[in-house]
Amino acid sequence: MKMRYIVFFVFLAMLLTACNRGSQDVASLLAGGRWFDLTWDFDENTVYWPTNETFRHDTVSYGINASGYFYSSFRYSAEEHGGTHFDAPLHFAHGGRSIEQITAEELTGEGVVIDVSDPATRDRDYLIGIQDFMNWEKKYGPIPEQAIVLLFTGFGAYWKDHLKYTGTQKSGKEGVDELHFPGLGPEAAKWLVNERHIKAVGIDTPSIDFGQSKDFLTHRFLCGSNITAYENIAHLEHLPAKGAYIVAAPMKIRGGSGSPLRLFAWVKQ
Ligand SMILES: [Zn+2]
Repeated sequence: MKMRYIVFFVFLAMLLTACNRGSQDVASLLAGGRWFDLTWDFDENTVYWPTNETFRHDTVSYGINASGYFYSSFRYSAEEHGGTHFDAPLHFAHGGRSIEQITAEELTGEGVVIDVSDPATRDRDYLIGIQDFMNWEKKYGPIPEQAIVLLFTGFGAYWKDHLKYTGTQKSGKEGVDELHFPGLGPEAAKWLVNERHIKAVGIDTPSIDFGQSKDFLTHRFLCGSNITAYENIAHLEHLPAKGAYIVAAPMKIRGGSGSPLRLFAWVKQ
């Protein structure tokens, strides 16, 4: 009996030591870098599709209550696809996975940043093509399998100016017709999925398809291929071309085709 106790306590001591060593490793690893928040604030100025409702945040309670202490609480409502947000395959694929089915493994991973700010600044309707990825690979090597590919058009710099960011200030169908911002070409999307086996793709514009798209071929292909996407990403300029670790945390809406997204990147310093 005694011996059993001794064995148990020795085992417990070993386990605690191992756990402690593990946490120290994580702490020292993270100390070598810093986190970036790639999310825009949600407020009355947040960019939504011209045909969508904008973000609402209404006060339910604010101030000293009847019991004498401060209490605040608000009610929000929003379309799934506005601001920094996440597209689940269900968005453009009948029977595709909805947002609560996306696993933690799929929401985290190595990020690569493809800088197309040069051509995108010259041409608002720029379609990111296979050649852009080839150029990146010449410098940095092949895009790793299961990478989270982030497309940096530089349009994030215009976020506060809707006209510059989307091409229009109008709402409704009229606004949709005037959307002009760069996006990922459908052929390039196919190449990323079929040739590079990426995990997810993101962009610093309102949509992964370019503003003038009428058939949303890139969305339809990505969703049909079970690939998730992030849109209206903030502050991509802080990220290196490779080596960032991405954490995407969308709201877990059962049956949702998308949701607001809190997006983080850890970058080694
Ligand atoms: Zn979306």
